[in-house]
Amino acid sequence: MNPNVSTPEPGGSAPAPGPSNFIRDIMVEDQKTGKYQGRVHTRFPPEPNGYLHIGHAKSICLNFGLAAEFGGKTNLRFDDTNPEKEDTEYVDSIMDTVRWLGFDWDDRLFYASDYFPQLYAWALQLIRDGKAYVCDLSAEEVRKHRGTLTEPGTPSPYRNRPVEENLDLFQRMKAGEFPDGSRTLRAKIDMASPNLNMRDPVMYRILHAEHHRTGNEWCIYPMYDFAHGQSDSIERITHSICTLEFEDHRPLYDWYIDQLGIYHPRQIEFDRLNLTYTMMSKRKLLTLVQEGHVRGWDDPRMPTLAGIRRRGYTPEAIRNFCKSIGISKTTGIVELGLLEHYVREDLNKRAARVMAVLRPLRVVIDNYPEGQVEEMEAVNNPEDASAGMRKVPFSRVLYIEQDDFREDPPKQYFRLSPGREVRLRYGYFVTCTGVVKNAEGQVEEIHCAYDPETRGGNAPDGRRVKSTIHWVSAQHAIDAEVRLYDNLFLTEDPNQGDDFRKNLNPNSLEVLEHCKLEPSLADTAPLAHYQFERLGYFCTDPDSTPGKPVFNRTVALRDTWAKIEKREKGK
Ligand code: ATP
Ligand code: MG
Repeated sequence: MNPNVSTPEPGGSAPAPGPSNFIRDIMVEDQKTGKYQGRVHTRFPPEPNGYLHIGHAKSICLNFGLAAEFGGKTNLRFDDTNPEKEDTEYVDSIMDTVRWLGFDWDDRLFYASDYFPQLYAWALQLIRDGKAYVCDLSAEEVRKHRGTLTEPGTPSPYRNRPVEENLDLFQRMKAGEFPDGSRTLRAKIDMASPNLNMRDPVMYRILHAEHHRTGNEWCIYPMYDFAHGQSDSIERITHSICTLEFEDHRPLYDWYIDQLGIYHPRQIEFDRLNLTYTMMSKRKLLTLVQEGHVRGWDDPRMPTLAGIRRRGYTPEAIRNFCKSIGISKTTGIVELGLLEHYVREDLNKRAARVMAVLRPLRVVIDNYPEGQVEEMEAVNNPEDASAGMRKVPFSRVLYIEQDDFREDPPKQYFRLSPGREVRLRYGYFVTCTGVVKNAEGQVEEIHCAYDPETRGGNAPDGRRVKSTIHWVSAQHAIDAEVRLYDNLFLTEDPNQGDDFRKNLNPNSLEVLEHCKLEPSLADTAPLAHYQFERLGYFCTDPDSTPGKPVFNRTVALRDTWAKIEKREKGK
């Protein structure tokens, strides 16, 4: 889109590009004043210390989305200043995920570690200018000297070291002469500043650790705060968009950039995404993986984009969700149900409808000819005529859902029960004529009679049935494993209490074996989307093997009967 026509002007023909927000407004204003010569250049700057989660999607959509709208560019930059926590596994998964979400950084892939030499040179410059010093206090002592929100800090006894001594010590820090944690390089700003970030923050620390890109080249590493703003500056980012917790760091980023006299991006903060029942901290998500509470970073219960993808959420649904939540300057909490709404809305359009029985109950149609098989015509997707039709085999013995039969039906229960007639989807009307029970008195099999006049689902005499149920022909069914998921946490706020592990939902995964699926699912491919009629949206799991497909429930359809029953029980 041409940025010059994005400003509503009298007689202008360009429509507004969706609901506006304060960051877009700033960009529009900057275009008007020519602040960055019409450039819009953003970046998405993850630290490669974990997999991306749904919160990152908000930031990705914002950074890539806004730049695209203004004909600008977005960089992918790894803020990799913390070698102990970072790994190429995370780098690879992050790139994969951003692409999957539908965004492209072209050739603009960067690493803060590529700027280590430049950052080191800038540190020397600040030392020479008397604005940085080597401090021999331990981390603990630095913390103690820092003061509190109400009391000023105490200056370090090394604060007034001569420039030459600082230069010498810093170079020897780099040369590896000192052990980890024995010294730091600190900015000389203001120990009495009301902003704690300005009380002589640490710029460099000694750390003899191997870095995933620079190996053992460095044994001093810049702190995130000394790397982030300058990295944006090096890349000539115009609008440096980040989450609200960095608002207090902005004066420090500005200070570094002003002291160094380098190009100045504008930092703008927005609210991070919080979702009910969802954990967003990478550190805690790593704990869940390491302690085996989930099967891995891409476990479909995880809020990681890798997990969500495996669960069957689509990039379109996530982008629509991110668009709908907007951005603001105050942190709130979004209902998980809203995300699920966008998933249902998207899958409704794209998922092929199929019949699958998760908890099978055998049905014998006594008056249906033994050995006969009919091919019933079924609609693949009522929302998409181009998806066409398929044939589903019908025979004398079928499976239906255990839930679709009640020997003693409660009021308002209109599915199958003794003497009751229902419609088999795309099949016939059947009436339940008998029940076979096992020694424990549980219903093992039911018997029905069908009306041959009702093929396709309508009675020539116009009589009606109150319910339509799905089924799968027993002799044609394929066996599958189906994994049903519930929220990973029981509490709306998973961080509530003293230990987030206590909030884990012990029933977040239910594995069903020997589910019965219609035969068209025999050659399903990983991550294919389906609607199992009346049950929900499902997606083929990569664990599937030939002859043994595995499906994940992406999201349930809203089950009206479950709601009625819950309401009745609550009375
Ligand atoms: P976490 O706290 O989960 O570890 P982080 O902020 O440390 O996340 P980064 O890798 O630094 O993770 O994040 C990359 C970018 O994504 C940053 O610009 C950050 O502000 C943004 N981001 C992280 N979490 C969220 C969130 N929940 N909502 C919106 N943006 C987020
Ligand atoms: Mg971070």
